[in-house]
Amino acid sequence: MKLEDTKRIVIKIGSAILFDPISGSLNKDWLNSLAEDVKFLREREKEVIIVSSGAIAMGAKDLNLDMKNMKLDMNQAVSSVGQIHLMSSFKNAFEQNEIKISQILLTLDDTEQRRRSINARRTIDTLLKLGIVPIVNENDTIATTEIRYGDNDRLASRVAQISSSDCLILLSNINGLYSADPTNGEDIKLIPSVNEIDQDIEKMIGESISKYGKGGMKTKIQAAKTAMLSGCHLAITNGSIMKPIRSLFEGRPCTWFEPNKSPMAARKQWIAGTMNPVGKLVIDQGAADALKKGSSLLPAGVKMIEGVFERGDVIEVCSEDNKKIGIGLAGYSSTASKSIMGHKSDEIANILSYSYREEMIHKDDLVLL
Ligand code: GLU
Repeated sequence: MKLEDTKRIVIKIGSAILFDPISGSLNKDWLNSLAEDVKFLREREKEVIIVSSGAIAMGAKDLNLDMKNMKLDMNQAVSSVGQIHLMSSFKNAFEQNEIKISQILLTLDDTEQRRRSINARRTIDTLLKLGIVPIVNENDTIATTEIRYGDNDRLASRVAQISSSDCLILLSNINGLYSADPTNGEDIKLIPSVNEIDQDIEKMIGESISKYGKGGMKTKIQAAKTAMLSGCHLAITNGSIMKPIRSLFEGRPCTWFEPNKSPMAARKQWIAGTMNPVGKLVIDQGAADALKKGSSLLPAGVKMIEGVFERGDVIEVCSEDNKKIGIGLAGYSSTASKSIMGHKSDEIANILSYSYREEMIHKDDLVLL
């Protein structure tokens, strides 16, 4: 896998590399070197999203608490203290490299529910277009056991999926996947690349979990499964050195998990695989011709709407002679769609008093049949 070929990169930072294992303090020099790495990537036209752990570890350190013995309510409270300290540390380090950052706190539903994941996707897209680096963490303050990702490896893979990123780098304190658990095995070797997560790969997973982070190799492999299904390359690499991304760029050994499709192909496959579309749009010939040329579906070309659906639901697109042309995710609910069909996109805000987007179905959310 060549990092040069990627466009949108998610970097996941584990607590184990952000904090000094002895003093428990944030490793500021390392964070500065990461900011330099991000600058290096942006100079090469890469879009960067960061998923960072560390809210609970930072809060526990600030409040002089032992995070190992904290119960859920304490974790929730302490994370809200740590998260602002964490973000201000990121802001300082990134501003020194002229990079603007934003904070995004997600709960499980924000990526698991299609409607909410579309909102998160749009926000991330907009931030990236503005040249801002989103820094994502789980919203630990309201997350409880049943409604949480639980670890940021899985969160990062979901973020990569909803943002159609083509690369996810998990920075941890191990060099990658070994042929056996490195803590107790002899004669072990680093696996440079994986094309399929089969039983042999599952067997190589050790159960070791670091002092600070929640994950281990098990959650990393789960993240790799999600990433591969979403067409995203995933690297497990040791991030505890300075400028870890640059060194990965220069070919430092790690484990790459290689998908066999692109993020867009994976997204379209996911849409096309929907069994029960809940509505239908009938469009005119002009709109049908535009779709074939790769355009989005605008309200002006829509003649009729059937079914009851919400924004984000899967709907069919048919020609006026009732031939199925495509399937896609609704940009507006059926009620809103009925009000704006036949109108120009710049009239949407006037008609509805709000406007999510100018398309009835965005081309990234549409599969032609
Ligand atoms: N969200 C947690 C935090 O910021 C970390 C979860 C993890 O270590 O994977 O403290």
